[in-house]
Amino acid sequence: MTADSTAPRSRGILFVLSGPSGVGKDTVLRQALPRLRGITVSISVTTRAPRPGERDGVDYFFVSAEEFARLMEQGGLLEHAAVHGHFYGTPRAWVMDTLEQGMDVILEIDVQGAIQVKASYPEAILIFLAPPSWPELARRLRSRGTEDEATVRRRLENARQELAKVEQYEYLIVNDRLREAVHRLRAIITAERSRPNRQVIERLLGEVQSDA
Ligand code: ADP
Ligand code: 5GP
Repeated sequence: MTADSTAPRSRGILFVLSGPSGVGKDTVLRQALPRLRGITVSISVTTRAPRPGERDGVDYFFVSAEEFARLMEQGGLLEHAAVHGHFYGTPRAWVMDTLEQGMDVILEIDVQGAIQVKASYPEAILIFLAPPSWPELARRLRSRGTEDEATVRRRLENARQELAKVEQYEYLIVNDRLREAVHRLRAIITAERSRPNRQVIERLLGEVQSDA
């Protein structure tokens, strides 16, 4: 399957979306994806407990600390990190198989994980979602109502450290107006799909020669 009719490719593109907890990653992704074909979101493995309404195999694969350690030892994770006191990781085989099938994949992971992905898979495109201001980030985190006050403070402190790594990303989107952020994410994906790909050019050149 090709991800975009104007740019046939043999292998999908790996996108990574990160940014502070509460900045709006889920919200922006949920709105951007229905209007993009040929891209799918990876489901991470975590040792964190499910929040009300979260489903195993849909939001995350919820596993015990022992299962997580076993997956790590077996090399089953493309990247992994301890975030806010819990372990999170990206299933390697699923991501690689999906890319091989020509489908683009997007990971919604933290900054430590994004940097690991870039080191082991340099073609990955890293996109950072930033808040318009600190008070607005704090407001969004609290408005979600899923964390207690101590957790909110720890997440805000982590956010400052994450922002310091933004130069390692290919793109930055400020999530001020939601519609604008959604538009920018879709524009980045479209632009990356429009880069000339060596295999496509070689195939086209081959066709020109056999036509002549
Ligand atoms: P994340 O996935 O980054 O942790 P969420 O998508 O859960 O963040 O968003 C956190 C809160 O911020 C939610 O209540 C969401 O509705 C709100 N939010 C997201 N984007 C915006 C925006 N551009 N303007 C105002 N509120 C937003
Ligand atoms: P939450 O617990 O709020 O769902 O996620 C907390 C943080 O963990 C978010 O910043 C999210 O992006 C990050 N995260 C989710 N899955 C993964 C993953 O597989 N790897 C890494 N490194 N971070 C993840």
